Amino acid sequence: MTQAAGRRDTLGVAVDHVRIGGGAPIVVQSMTNTDTADIPGTVAQVAALAKAGSELVRITVNNRESAEAVPHIRERLYAMGCNAPLVGDFHFNGHKLLTEVPACAGALAKYRINPGNVGRGKKRDPQFAAMIEVACRYERPVRIGVNWGSLDQDLLTRLMDENSRASEPLDARAVVHEAMIQSALESAARAVDVGLPRDRIILSCKMSGVQDLVAVYRALADRSDYPLHLGLTEAGMGSKGIVASTAALAILLQQGIGDTIRISLTPEPGGDRTREVIVAQEILQSMGLRAFTPMVVACPGCGRTTSTFFQELAQSIQGHVRERMPQWRREYRGVEDMTVAVMGCVVNGPGESKHANIGISLPGTGERPVAPVYVDGEKSVTLKGDNIAAEFTALVDDYVSARYAPLGEPRD
Ligand code: SF4
Repeated sequence: MTQAAGRRDTLGVAVDHVRIGGGAPIVVQSMTNTDTADIPGTVAQVAALAKAGSELVRITVNNRESAEAVPHIRERLYAMGCNAPLVGDFHFNGHKLLTEVPACAGALAKYRINPGNVGRGKKRDPQFAAMIEVACRYERPVRIGVNWGSLDQDLLTRLMDENSRASEPLDARAVVHEAMIQSALESAARAVDVGLPRDRIILSCKMSGVQDLVAVYRALADRSDYPLHLGLTEAGMGSKGIVASTAALAILLQQGIGDTIRISLTPEPGGDRTREVIVAQEILQSMGLRAFTPMVVACPGCGRTTSTFFQELAQSIQGHVRERMPQWRREYRGVEDMTVAVMGCVVNGPGESKHANIGISLPGTGERPVAPVYVDGEKSVTLKGDNIAAEFTALVDDYVSARYAPLGEPRD
């Protein structure tokens, strides 16, 4: 599947083997919530996030213990065959950790620096410069990650003062937006002055309101050619976090803005951290921007589907496809573009199934207990009896091996 036309032109930034911007596919990233000093716990979560499809994984580096753990985490991940680049998240003491623990600086593929949290007053510039100097020495890219929860207060105060003296002052929200943008752009200019090449800089300006985020990123995209990391910060839990993130990111992505994304979901206690990766992939795939895993199209069901069989089959096919995908991806080219339809009755079932690569139209309440299967738009077989789920799952597997060329061979 190709990227949508009209993506904004940006510099390309190499983060180890992953390319961000410069026309590269939009990169999915995530962040751990383990204590980074807990090496086994962090290794396990990074590996799980990478296995789910996170192409970069960010870890917090907030104290000496976590900085010293980073090279061990990196080594163990390589030993497991996980080469996802690690991004270090630095606040307050990043200048010390990066200079005093060189093995940490060397093990990370990118540094995230929050310009609002690098120090106040006279300390700010030298502490920021110290981190950039390390990035220059190790040839590492940097994300200048502004967050409105930790916006540079000196800058905001200055802009508020200037605004109050203006003949036509802006409202306070617009001044905050401008402060976010200037914080990112001024920090990028300062990094370049220190010696960081422009093609090693990525910007973000995260906010928690959808309209704020859209306004700030549109302006930022107009005013710079740095690749942009998109994400709604503090998106929240469950459906609220998913809906708000999707609403904000979809507007920007549709306008060609955004080179890498992260969905900042708050997991349920004990919940699965990899959900943020799945949501990010689903946003990109639903918009036709990238394909990661076959899509299961299912109708919502209605009064014509009174048993739970239809929902169970849709769920089990979705689970089957996700489980098989790591192996399919290694073996078959293009399988991520496949669509599978699981439909509840004869009203839309045959039509939707014909649009899918493979689809099944289950019998609705009162319909004949048979389930026609459609392959590439043509009716193939009709399933009936107690084994419809297992038989359809086997047909999906057969379709994959017959339709998609083994990797290394041209697709027909
Ligand atoms: S396809 Fe049938 S079961 Fe599904 S929503 Fe439409 S009418 Fe209802």
